[in-house]
Amino acid sequence: MSRAIRRSDRLTRASLERRRFCGWVLLPAVQWLVPAGASAAKVASARLWPAQEYTRLILEAPAPVAHQLLAMKNPERLVLDLEGIDVNPELLELPRRVAADDPYIQAIRVAPFRPGVLRIVLDLKSAVNPQLFALSPVADYGYRVVLDLYPLTPPDPLMALLEDVERAGQSGANASSPGAEADRPALGGEPGKGAPRQAPKRLIVVAIDPGHGGEDPGAIGRRGTYEKTVTLAIAKKLKASLDDEPGMRAMLTRDDDYFVPLDVRVQKARRVQADLFISIHADAFTTPSARGSSVFALSEHGATSAAARWLAQHENEADLIGGVNIGARDPMLARTLLDLSQTAQISDSLRVGRSVLEGIGSVNTLHKGSVEQAGFAVLKAPDIPSILVETAFISNPEEEQKLRDDRHQRKLADSIRSGVRRYFAQNPPLSRAKA
Ligand SMILES: [Zn+2]
Repeated sequence: MSRAIRRSDRLTRASLERRRFCGWVLLPAVQWLVPAGASAAKVASARLWPAQEYTRLILEAPAPVAHQLLAMKNPERLVLDLEGIDVNPELLELPRRVAADDPYIQAIRVAPFRPGVLRIVLDLKSAVNPQLFALSPVADYGYRVVLDLYPLTPPDPLMALLEDVERAGQSGANASSPGAEADRPALGGEPGKGAPRQAPKRLIVVAIDPGHGGEDPGAIGRRGTYEKTVTLAIAKKLKASLDDEPGMRAMLTRDDDYFVPLDVRVQKARRVQADLFISIHADAFTTPSARGSSVFALSEHGATSAAARWLAQHENEADLIGGVNIGARDPMLARTLLDLSQTAQISDSLRVGRSVLEGIGSVNTLHKGSVEQAGFAVLKAPDIPSILVETAFISNPEEEQKLRDDRHQRKLADSIRSGVRRYFAQNPPLSRAKA
């Protein structure tokens, strides 16, 4: 099907965009300290993705790069030696890419260490937990050496949510601890619509998952709009909108432009015992005329259409493109997400999906009038109703324009909110099981 062309199309454009952004130009290489006859490899691109959760340094080269890492104290710094790498303008540019507000890196220094070895020194703001790994070429990426700097104590999404709730409480908004069995004000099912009257007895927590991020731009519109950018913008508006809803509180699985593995997104939602998981995306297609919003739920066995199957495969590739550290995966977690039967989760997901689809239908054309199903990895929380919303086609020039528009983003967010509100009014969550 023609839809399958989308990926190569997208990736070619991603590559062009990225190279332009990173200043990929074939300047005459600055050569020094390279023994005569030695052919030094080139680092084609050096990228930094700073975020509170972790800062990622990526060095990309056309061939594998031998490397080693040394952690040093007083002052805290990391020393990364790259073998057979020559200094080039791309690397010399790296120190200037360190943002003043980078949570972990104070400064970067790049210099030849000895013949054939290039040394990159990261001066740190505090001690970190470094993770170094290499990635084989995938999509249009070459060989990547990845250095992730994690805080010694990882931020806990539950603590973040509690603090968020507390702040809201202090500023006079409705709030209560998630998980607390305190009486909550009625959600107020829509009057006159016959919604059950029993109000939920506790705060409803919604996990909002902005698709893609960091190395993984997602789909790219004809005007160069990145899916990862619009998903974050819409997700933030949806969070604000849901936080306004009495008895509800939302959290984001990422709040900035960095890569989050699919199972970590699920894990974060489970950590806060979310009542609902909504992954936000923007679709793409080879023909610019394809348009409209769609909503997906998980399928355990097969997809409801070839397009849904293809889309799920493509969304599941985010981990490869974004660069997942296989060594740091928790095999137990992966098993939990795969092994459990999810029949009940799926039927709840279909129900909330229908409600959200109806909400979105008030502001955008629907691509499909019913909730589709496929094996999306990000929808696999066994205990949380989970849906994936393709808000619009970023490949459709008119919809791309709308996706960039602040007001339209808000409309989309509000329409999703109305679907969420209707779902919870008709399906009040049960009291939480004591963990
Ligand atoms: Zn996507």
